[in-house]
Amino acid sequence: MECTSFYRDTWVEVDLDCIEENVKSMISHLSKEQIVIAVVKANGYGHGDVQVARTALNAGASYLAVAFLDEALSLRRHGIQAPIIVLGASRSEDVNVAAENNVTLTVFNLEWIIQAKERLDKDKTVSFHLKLDTGMGRLGIKDEGEMLEVIKVIDESPMFHLEGIFTHFATADELDLSYFHAQFERFNQFLSLLPYQPKLIHTGNSATGLRFPEKTFNAVRLGIAMYGLTPSTEMKGLLPYELKEAFSLHSKLVHVKKLTEGEKVSYGATYTANEEEWVGTVPIGYADGWIRKHQGAEVLVEGNRCEIIGRVCMDQFVVRLPHQLPVGSRVTLIGTQGNQTIGIDEVAKRLETINYEIPCTINFRVPRIFLEKQSIIEVRNTILL
Ligand SMILES: *Cc1c(COP(=O)(O)O)cnc(C)c1O
Repeated sequence: MECTSFYRDTWVEVDLDCIEENVKSMISHLSKEQIVIAVVKANGYGHGDVQVARTALNAGASYLAVAFLDEALSLRRHGIQAPIIVLGASRSEDVNVAAENNVTLTVFNLEWIIQAKERLDKDKTVSFHLKLDTGMGRLGIKDEGEMLEVIKVIDESPMFHLEGIFTHFATADELDLSYFHAQFERFNQFLSLLPYQPKLIHTGNSATGLRFPEKTFNAVRLGIAMYGLTPSTEMKGLLPYELKEAFSLHSKLVHVKKLTEGEKVSYGATYTANEEEWVGTVPIGYADGWIRKHQGAEVLVEGNRCEIIGRVCMDQFVVRLPHQLPVGSRVTLIGTQGNQTIGIDEVAKRLETINYEIPCTINFRVPRIFLEKQSIIEVRNTILL
């Protein structure tokens, strides 16, 4: 079962109070008729899917979303009974697995639903949300005729239920909204052709929910903003409420030593001490998702910004210290120490990527500690599961 301890000096802390607050803030921002679908794909954007799901549901979210069926099954195995939708493409041959586990699937073309109908066991039922491609160009139906055909196939089968219809915006987080509005118009055209309105109609990711709650119909698929991150840097000044960042990454100095002038550090001996200096070894590396591109970046030790010197290795890197520090001193790679904070956005900028990618890529080797009211409520050590 779930391993509740770990034996390495590197861990992620997930502040579930932040998740709770972020969900509640979105709920207050929406109208009473709108629900929150908490998006917990990719292990809850690296935070921990089960714990985030539980917290989001307690905070008032009514539905969960994942990317593929295995992620939904993992939540079910952990006892989560709330409705779950798989947003991505499932294989039509897996329709029975979805039915057995009460998982809602996304229908994204006619051929798929015909195959699913042939493959579904006679005694099973399954719910769908219909995905329309209004300009994302990824998954979904582009053609009105095809949409109506799909609905016909679903309606003709007593085993099938069309619970929802949705689309996804490509540019909801950008300043230029022309493409967003065009997609919204296109979605409305589709809706006007429907023979009936399914229970859930949704367009919005976090960016849409934050900026245009009135344009996401009766549900918002809340991902990045639930984790306390801004959907894009352009949106920083446009937030209707404050987001609380839930994820932090920590380690400890496991070896501290003094270098003399001219001594070198790590593979390739790319770093040379200019003078006598103190350095510390930190047990996290690229195999944890702390990639080699972090060479030269800063982490926090004793409230100081300290440089990562030499190459980042598979499981370790070396940091230059302001002075001698004890083994066991906390190293914060993402988060706050004293009056210094290294947020996920700073790390993303350093790596020339988006904030979404940062917690997702800190992988299963790094245990997650879950905090509520500053107390540890659970530890998940995926490597020993
Ligand atoms: C991941 C995903 C979301 C969540 O997007 P955020 O920008 O993280 O809020 C919403 N809808 C779909 C279809 C997704 O794949």
